[in-house]
Amino acid sequence: MSYKCARCETSGKSLTLDSFFLCDNCATMLITKAFNNKRPVFEGCQVEGYCYLCGNITDVKLRQWILCENCSRVVHSYPIGILAQRHVLEWLRSRIPWIKFDLTDPVILMPYSKEGTGKEPQPDITGYDDRGNKVLMIEVKTGRSSISDMRSFQLDLSDCDDILKYVERERIATYIFHVQVVEVYAPPTSYFRCVEIWWTDIFELSKRFKRIVTRRIDRGKKAAYYDPRCFKPADSFIEEVKRRGYEDLTKRLREGNIPVLYRES
Ligand SMILES: [Zn+2]
Ligand SMILES: [Zn+2]
Repeated sequence: MSYKCARCETSGKSLTLDSFFLCDNCATMLITKAFNNKRPVFEGCQVEGYCYLCGNITDVKLRQWILCENCSRVVHSYPIGILAQRHVLEWLRSRIPWIKFDLTDPVILMPYSKEGTGKEPQPDITGYDDRGNKVLMIEVKTGRSSISDMRSFQLDLSDCDDILKYVERERIATYIFHVQVVEVYAPPTSYFRCVEIWWTDIFELSKRFKRIVTRRIDRGKKAAYYDPRCFKPADSFIEEVKRRGYEDLTKRLREGNIPVLYRES
C-alpha cells in the first residue's frame, strides 16, 4: 500500500495521518481551496467544540487527511496566520483610528501548485492617511514565545527577501510585528489565542542582526537571527504613529538608505 499527500501528492517517508476538528464550513474550505477537492480519509466523531481553523465553538467533526511534513506545516499555519493578522488589524483600527489600515496580503488557503507563483510580495497590512496615501507597512510574524523569553528573533531569509522587495519598491516606513500565539487545549478540540503584540522597524531590526542559522526542521531553510531587544510592547506603537515616526523612516528609505536584514558570512 502506498500513500500520497492529499495536498502535494508526493509519497514518501514523511507522511502522517493528520487530524483536525473542523466545522462544516471550514472543512469545505480546506477541501476546495487547499486539497484540490480531496475529501478527508475519515470524517466523524461529531462533538461540540472549537473548530481548528476558524476557532468558533460549534458542532465540529474529526477530519483526517494524509499529509507530508511540509503540507502539514502549511495547513497548521493557516489558523495561526489568519488569527494573528485579524488580531493586529483590529488592534490597529481601535487604537489608531486616524490611519486607515487594510489587509494587503491576507493569509489564503491555496493548493500546493499555486505556492510561490511569482506574485509580487506585499506587506501584510498597509496604513493610509485620510487622502489615501500609503504611510506605513506592517509585516506580521507569529510565534509561541513572548519576546521577553526569546533568545533570538528568527526570520526566514525568504521572508527577509520578500520584505526587502516591497520596501525597495514602495520606499515607505516598514514595521515588523511579532504576535505571540498560543494553542489552548479544550479536549478533544483546541484553538489558538493571541497573547501579546510587539513591534520594531526594519532599521532597528537590521542593527540587531546576529547571524544566519540553518534550521534542522522545515527542509533546512535558512533563517536570520536577531537580538529580540529591538522589539517594543504594542502600546508604544501608538506613540510612534502619533509623533509620525514613520515619516522619518520613509525619508531615510527615499534617500536610498535601504537596511540590510542579513549578511552571509
Ligand atoms: Zn504534501
Ligand atoms: Zn470553522
